[in-house]
Amino acid sequence: VITRNKPLIFLPHLVASMTQVETTYIMIKPDGVQRGLVGEIITRFEKKGFKLSGLKLFQCPQDLAEEHYKDLKSKPFFPKLIEYITSGPVVCMAWEGIGVVASARKLIGSTNPLQAEPGTIRGDLAVQTGRNVVHGSDSPENGQREIALWFKESEVCEWTPAQAPWLIE
Ligand code: ADP
Repeated sequence: VITRNKPLIFLPHLVASMTQVETTYIMIKPDGVQRGLVGEIITRFEKKGFKLSGLKLFQCPQDLAEEHYKDLKSKPFFPKLIEYITSGPVVCMAWEGIGVVASARKLIGSTNPLQAEPGTIRGDLAVQTGRNVVHGSDSPENGQREIALWFKESEVCEWTPAQAPWLIE
């Protein structure tokens, strides 16, 4: 990062996120499935140039929802959140790419859809925090943890898209 009159600052986490291939867990929540937004949401990640490595429609059991959101257990909205996530099928996805974790969070937008920027998934397609259509891991570590939680090893594919050399030099 070169800025005038300022020393060169080395930000290892920033450099790492710009060079390392990561995997993130993206989930279309029951409202996204019920509202027919599955194709629209997948298209946004595909068009950006990330690689899909896992995909399934899945009815989430209560214990898995509780494990996935265990850090929010003490929140007053936790019971309603579990009810929401288990209320119908979700679409589970693993997406791979350089810097995909932070980039996917940007594509998704703020937790409260009314504060999410237009152009983001939540900014364009939702109006309420309790119905915000999509989940995305908040760190590479949680990406790994959540993919291991929602997918069997055999459900995640290693493959090279034909377009790879046209996306990354
Ligand atoms: P994010 O999904 O943007 O990472 P959080 O990890 O803070 O956001 O919350 C997880 C999910 O819990 C949110 O996406 C939303 O579905 C739900 N949630 C968060 N805050 C609230 C709230 N105040 N009321 C209802 N649901 C909430």
